[in-house]
Amino acid sequence: MGEILTGEGKISAPERALIVVAHPDDIDFGMAGTVAALTHAGCEVAYCLVTSGEAGDDDLSRSAEELAALRQVEQTAAAAQVGVSELHWLGHPDGMVVADLSLRRDIARVIRITRPDVVLCQTSIPNWDHIYISHPDHLATATAALAAVYPDARNPRAFPDLLDEGHKPHGVSEIWLVGAEPNRWIDITDSFDHKVEALRAHRSQTAEMDDLEGRLREWCSSSAEAGGLPPGRLAEAFRVVAAG
Ligand SMILES: [Zn+2]
Repeated sequence: MGEILTGEGKISAPERALIVVAHPDDIDFGMAGTVAALTHAGCEVAYCLVTSGEAGDDDLSRSAEELAALRQVEQTAAAAQVGVSELHWLGHPDGMVVADLSLRRDIARVIRITRPDVVLCQTSIPNWDHIYISHPDHLATATAALAAVYPDARNPRAFPDLLDEGHKPHGVSEIWLVGAEPNRWIDITDSFDHKVEALRAHRSQTAEMDDLEGRLREWCSSSAEAGGLPPGRLAEAFRVVAAG
């Protein structure tokens, strides 16, 4: 397995990673540079999208079904930009995600199918500096994803119907949270262009944004600075939580 560069030097990439988020484009804003670095190092990355983003624009002339289909196409194209081709769509309603047992079971199923070493997800705690990070779907998805990692996916007595479906228990070693107080910075300088292209693939969301690349460069640059990376570097930040 190859290595990825962090603020504290190189670390071995995990063999398999699963990313669980609420909406199409959440991955690409928060962690596409890291995904590109991981796949480049030989890590197999899969995505789990809780909704298809059908509440993601104000243009009511387009049906929710049409928008969901468009956003799935956009997310699939964005994933291809960073070396990912396995996407699991859970089909929960955009804007109404609830961290209930049904969502926990759906995410635990995907964890048992993909068997990741690391799960990357959003944070379940509101961020009072950036309200958009604290969309209720993000908080609910993160709450359910954390419960799916521990204890649901690893506990053979959790959701016995998953065992009946043939999905054996699986223990995840680490969780990397986006939007929480960070303790690891991934250097994405070399994969930044892929992150930009992944975000451009979400045309319904980003085509109208002024200077998308400049804004991303500014965010990733200040993140790198916060993580103590050398000047000129770009980073994405995570809270790494041991789960094994
Ligand atoms: Zn979102």
